[in-house]
Formats: sequence, C-alpha cells, structure tokens
Amino acid sequence: MAQRRRFLALLGGGLFGASLLVSAIPSSLTAAVAQGAPKKAAPAAKGGGALETKAINLGFIPILESAALVIGVEKGFFAKHGLTDVNLTKQASWPSARDNVVLGSGGGGIDGGQWQLPMPQMITNGAITNGRKVPMYILAMLSSQGNGIVASNSVKKAELGLDTKGDGAFFTKFEKEKGRKFRAAMTFPKANQDMWIRYWLAAGGVDPDKNVELLTVPSAETVAGMRNGTMELFSTGDPWPSRAVKEKFGYLVATTANIWRVHPEEFLAVRADWVKKNPKATIALLKGVMEAQQWLAKAENKDEAAKILSSRKWFNAPEDIIERSLKGGYKVGPSAQVENNPNMAPLYWNSPRGVISYPYKSLTMWFLLESMRWKFFPGQLPNIAAAKALNDQVTREDLWKQAAKELGVPAKDIPKGSSRGTERFFDGVVYDPTKPQAYLDSLKIKR
Ligand code: CA
Repeated sequence: MAQRRRFLALLGGGLFGASLLVSAIPSSLTAAVAQGAPKKAAPAAKGGGALETKAINLGFIPILESAALVIGVEKGFFAKHGLTDVNLTKQASWPSARDNVVLGSGGGGIDGGQWQLPMPQMITNGAITNGRKVPMYILAMLSSQGNGIVASNSVKKAELGLDTKGDGAFFTKFEKEKGRKFRAAMTFPKANQDMWIRYWLAAGGVDPDKNVELLTVPSAETVAGMRNGTMELFSTGDPWPSRAVKEKFGYLVATTANIWRVHPEEFLAVRADWVKKNPKATIALLKGVMEAQQWLAKAENKDEAAKILSSRKWFNAPEDIIERSLKGGYKVGPSAQVENNPNMAPLYWNSPRGVISYPYKSLTMWFLLESMRWKFFPGQLPNIAAAKALNDQVTREDLWKQAAKELGVPAKDIPKGSSRGTERFFDGVVYDPTKPQAYLDSLKIKR
C-alpha cells in the first residue's frame, strides 16, 4: 500500500498526464512478486571491492527476448557475480514497463530491464513520457530474431507472405467489404514491433499509414485478440506467434529473421542514475547477462531453457512451443509448412554477424533512423546529427567491453568499433551506417 500511495502522490504531483493514469495503476506494480535468487552475502567484485548493491529491480515481458534475464536469475549467473537480489518482475505491457522505469525502484517501479528500441532513447529525451526526461543507458542486446508476423485464418485466402507486392488490392478490397481497415497489432506504438510491420508492408508498396489500421495489443493478449477478431494480424516475440499457429487461429506470414537476418531485436537498458550510482554492480549485471546468453546459445541447454521459461512463474506458456521456437522450428505460411532451422531461431550470443550481445551503435541508431522515416516523434530527432547525439548518449558499448574483458570473453568476440557494417534487408535495401541519409533516401514509402 505504501508503494501505491507514493505512486498516487507522484501522480498528484502532476508528473503524469491523465492518459498515462489508466495504464499506470499497474498490476505489475501492485502484484510485483520477488523472484530473486536466494540471498547470500555479496562476493567481492572482480576488479576490486564489493558491489555498491546486491539488488536491482528489472522488468520483463513474457517473450523469448527476456530469456537471458530469466536464465540469469534461475541459473544463478547474476548471483555468481554478486547480484544476489535481482528482482525480475513481469510487466503487464510495454506502457507499464515505461511507467515503472519512470518511477524507478525508489518509487516502487523498476530500474530497467528488457526494452524494445527506441524506448530507452525516447524515455531519455522525454518523447514518450510526457516530456519527463529519464536518462537511460543501453547496455547490451538481449536477442536477435525470434519474432513473427502472424495473420488470422480469417484472411487465409489472401495468402499473405513475406512479399506484399500485389497485396495492395487485397487491403483495399478488405476495407470496402468490411467497412473498416485491415487491423494489424503491435505491442507498443513507434517501437520495433511497429517498425517490423511497417518495414514488411512498405517493402511491397503497402502504405502502413493508409492501407491498414495499426493498433496496440500486449504480447500476452495477442492470441486471444486474434481469436476474438480484434485484429487480422499481429507481430511480437515467440511463444505468441507460434502459439497462434499451433492453436490454429493464424498462420505465420514471416519471421523477423526473414525480413533482416541477425537483426537487432530487444535490449537491456537501465536508468542512467542507477548505473552512475552502481558502476560495479552494472558490470556484474552485464556479466550475468552475458553468461546467461552464452548458456542459452548452447544446443544442449534448449530443453532446460524451455522448461524454465514455460513455467507459471515466468511465461506460463506451453513448454513444447517454447522448445520448438528456441530450436528454430516454425510452421510457415497458410499450409503450415514445417521448417526446422536453428539459424532462424532466436539468437543470444554467437551469430554469422559476430557476438549478439554487443550493443553496436550502428544497430541502436537504426531505430532512430526508422523513427525519422515515419516521423514518429514530431519536434524530436530533427536531423541525423540530433539522432546520432542521442544515440551516442544512450548506448554504452564501453561498459559492455569492460564487462566482457573482466569475464574473459575472447578478444575476437569483443568488437573494436561501433559499426557492425552494412546491413541488408529482404527487399534488397541496404543500410550502410556510414551513410544514414542514403538509407533514408532509398526508402520509397516514408512520411
Ligand atoms: Ca520483440
């Protein structure tokens, strides 16, 4: 109750707008359950001295992107590095996670956790927090791939697929017949799931702002929403897309790995004030995440990972679906063609593009460029220089490198620079991080 009173007092202080109020009396706050590892004395941090704290409050969403955080707790990787009280709490939705990080642990919220980009950047500059700036740092990439775009069986005849060229007529016809637009759901507006849907549609000439209606639905409600006819399509992380296919409400149109191989997916980000106050604990947090990512990447651990993640305490979702997703097993398209390819699975550590965990600025920048493409934040990100300055402020490759060195990650796995190099999308578009304007210029549909 004390937390709730403090929270309401904050609201009374005018920090939040009325629109935030509804989403922000969160079950995720009142129902937060301590899920930390058993308490032990904090061992000394490698590199000298005890950690400033043994505790951090992190948020997670029940999708495979959060696996490294869950495994870090369950397999004791955080505790091993002295963070014995990682309080990892399920967030009801991305708006709840945002509101909770604005509160911080001092206000009964969270210090950080799992994020879709560009949420940490746009919380830093106040663009999605009613102007309240809460500086954050992006510390690591949590995962790549593992997300899907699923269409409802009610539109099975349209046979939507990776290539949407020629589908414009379908969307127009749909609107004419139903008297409303085709509905596509993402989990938070103006963040990566929204970007995947937009990129996919626009690549084939379908305008996401004109030909469809985009709406926001929390990950855990996507399958029910599709069953109820709330929307004809959604995009989020597994197990939800695979679950919609297994329960025969929908079919897999594309995985995000189809759109962009080894793409950046979700990230670990923490409030900057927490990092500044707890520099050694920050490095310990990073080491725990890295070890969890390495553990998740091993084929022999996938079954155990599925068992842990599927449990009621964490995702509360069928173990067999999670196990198959972790191994890259998908049923693709209207005919549910079985494909098994570990290269298309969620990736946590190694990949053909090098280490997954490293937060390349070239990758975190892409989400700001895509925000510019769609004019998501009027008055913010006025030009590439402004986007780059924000990206440089928020993305902390230096901390990742320090943690990796102390952990003993081989030098060949520690990137030297801030660019992963040129990126290629399924439609042939190229993002050369040294030429961001050329990337924006090359996109046909934009605002
Ligand atoms: Ca995702």
